[in-house]
Amino acid sequence: DSFDAMGLQENLLRGIYAYGFERPSAIQQRGIVPFCKGLDVIQQAQSGTGKTATFCSGILQQLDYGLVQCQALVLAPTRELAQQIEKVMRALGDYLGVKVHACVGGTSVREDQRILQAGVHTVVGTPGRVFDMLRRQSLRPDHIRMFVLDEADEMLSRGFKDQIYDIFQLLPGKIQVGVFSATMPPEALEITRKFMNKPVRILV
Ligand code: AMP
Repeated sequence: DSFDAMGLQENLLRGIYAYGFERPSAIQQRGIVPFCKGLDVIQQAQSGTGKTATFCSGILQQLDYGLVQCQALVLAPTRELAQQIEKVMRALGDYLGVKVHACVGGTSVREDQRILQAGVHTVVGTPGRVFDMLRRQSLRPDHIRMFVLDEADEMLSRGFKDQIYDIFQLLPGKIQVGVFSATMPPEALEITRKFMNKPVRILV
């Protein structure tokens, strides 16, 4: 039960330890390795369990840093959560040189466009602004190969279902999908059935 045993890149491990984590939480212990292998993963876990670092590590491990194009997209239900995830991603990926941007409502569209144009490896955002950036072709989906829905149940109860489906339609066909949700209402199960391929289920 250590981060060292997970086969992570040296510079990712440095980021994890520098952030202050010493040992993986239960969800990290069970979730990071399958995610790093490229498997679709459903993790039913409350917030506070360490789920953010689970998918951030899985993404950071798999990014191609020589390609400054968006390769991973994380959706979250609120601006605050998306910005929180952005911070964790940036901190854990500090030694890897990750370029991450949060696309959320209530901020300048022009500024989002400028940052995306300059190049990022990964985007975290709320469904509305992310869809807007895709629609304007400021966010190019061509290289996206990882898609994470954080607090999927919460996004659905906030009415983001159609936007999540619209976004998924614009992404390349074969991508890795991670779904994190405290509960699994029927609409969340439907998402896992429609978007995922033989998902690994982890209940914490
Ligand atoms: P989360 O469930 O991702 O919102 O994380 C909940 C809290 O636990 C956050 O404050 C994290 O910084 C912290 N945390 C996550 N993983 C670890 C870990 N392996 N060791 C210590 N703290 C952690």
